[in-house]
Amino acid sequence: MDTPLNIVIVGGGTAGWSAAAAIAGVVSQNVATVRLIESEEIGTVGVGEATLPHMKEFNDHIGVIEADMMQQANATFKLGIEFVDWGYKGSSYIHPFGVHGQPLGGAMFHHQWVRSRLSGDESSLGDYSYPIMASRAAKFDFPSRDKNQVSSTYSYAYHFDAALYARYLRRFAERRGAMRTEGKVTDVSLDGESGDIASITLENGETVTADLFIDCTGFRALLIGDALGTDYQDWSKWLPCDRAVAVPCERQPGKLLPYTRATARDAGWQWRIPLQSRTGNGYVYASDFISEDEAAGTLLSSLDGEAQGDPRFLKFQAGRRVGSWQKNCVAIGLSSGFLEPLESTSIYLIQQAITTLLSFLPRKKIDPALRTEFNRLIDLEYDRVRDFLILHYYANTRDDADLWRYCRSMEVPDSLLEKLEFFRTSGHVETYRNGLFTPASWLAVYIGQGVMPERYDRQADKLPLDEMLGEIRKMKAQIAERVDRMPSHGVFVEDYCPSN
Ligand code: FAD
Repeated sequence: MDTPLNIVIVGGGTAGWSAAAAIAGVVSQNVATVRLIESEEIGTVGVGEATLPHMKEFNDHIGVIEADMMQQANATFKLGIEFVDWGYKGSSYIHPFGVHGQPLGGAMFHHQWVRSRLSGDESSLGDYSYPIMASRAAKFDFPSRDKNQVSSTYSYAYHFDAALYARYLRRFAERRGAMRTEGKVTDVSLDGESGDIASITLENGETVTADLFIDCTGFRALLIGDALGTDYQDWSKWLPCDRAVAVPCERQPGKLLPYTRATARDAGWQWRIPLQSRTGNGYVYASDFISEDEAAGTLLSSLDGEAQGDPRFLKFQAGRRVGSWQKNCVAIGLSSGFLEPLESTSIYLIQQAITTLLSFLPRKKIDPALRTEFNRLIDLEYDRVRDFLILHYYANTRDDADLWRYCRSMEVPDSLLEKLEFFRTSGHVETYRNGLFTPASWLAVYIGQGVMPERYDRQADKLPLDEMLGEIRKMKAQIAERVDRMPSHGVFVEDYCPSN
């Protein structure tokens, strides 16, 4: 039997502690041991409060108890993201974590909806989505397990304090045998022959060796970037936002909303994330279109409550490493790439990389085939998220600010143009196997941003028009009636996981 794989993680933000918790939680110490090195003096990026439903699967898989985690991380539930002023000023739609309607008359529901619109019906697609209706009413309940129920047609994610989540994962990982070292890495030595990382040196002079290094050093990318020189593919021509200014504010009494709000601004967009005790806010902006002072002014003048502390500024560049596993080093988190938080995808990409690494856990002598396949899968995840994000900027009809005019006329990847054309002309949404964003997500954004298809699936015509209209109205009424009976999100959170 092989001796255990000696894994060293450098960095203790959400990426580092998610990796440590997952490896320690899932793999026995006969297979792999984990040591995490982090520097309190350097600290973490300190943002990242909104997530996607896959986080629940990740947490369940490694053994995290949901209510316990939520209580300690000041968390609330999240059913989707509201986009305000994106397609045009005055517009609003919700990207829900669930489907719209249920298949009807042999066709996907949205084809029937397009048919109803073409026949003159004016109801909005969101009226047929359980999570959208629940979001609008500020309600929450767990999805039904009975797949025949309309209340089974969604999933949910969390809003939380990322620093508290990382602290929670740290305790979780340490209880399962992960070792933590406080220290700053000051040097990285490469093996002259293989080019692998031979060792890292800490500020106190200690030299640390490992079979596999995981680079979770955030934007610094100490191992994958500085030491191994892995190229970074720059995507800022498509995703021009390169700065953010963030500040929490007091939570106002009243409804606790179960969704993130993303409001388009002249030079980017502003997030609003409701936690139990405070609201997270930030303005993600393109520095070519607005100054730091103006961005901070816009943010501070549009908060719901009093700001807690001074605004913090962050810099980034959209893009990804060209292969985040190089030699004996896997980059996870901000060191592997950055896509702005518009669809809350970063923590998803972190946890997806960890799950993929766990399923390809190497032996001491790393099989290059594992590395190649890992990179193919992770690159694909990044590329698909990129196209989805670009869609939000590209499909706009705003003529009131330079950023939006630029985005509307920029050249976008062919992979996105093909998807858009397919939807516009046929009403079909291109489907991925195992992709992050399902057809329901693409559909919400297409329709929400004003991309209406010219046609629909011919199979939808099987049902006579009047009968179809009657059925979809029944569906809408059934959703409204079920949502009416749900508890309010605030009351649900108070009962299930009140923060300490
Ligand atoms: P960091 O948190 O920066 O951690 C880096 C770690 O490396 C730290 O522990 C640091 O001490 C350590 N380190 C660095 N150098 C050394 C060294 N020399 N020696 C020892 N240790 C070292 N994601 C979402 O999913 N949802 C969101 O809503 C969201 N919002 C965001 C908003 C903004 C403006 C930004 C910039 C990002 C956002 N993200 C979001 C991304 C999210 O914040 C990150 O993906 C997540 O926090 C993971 O960061 P990380 O662990 O890779 O890096």
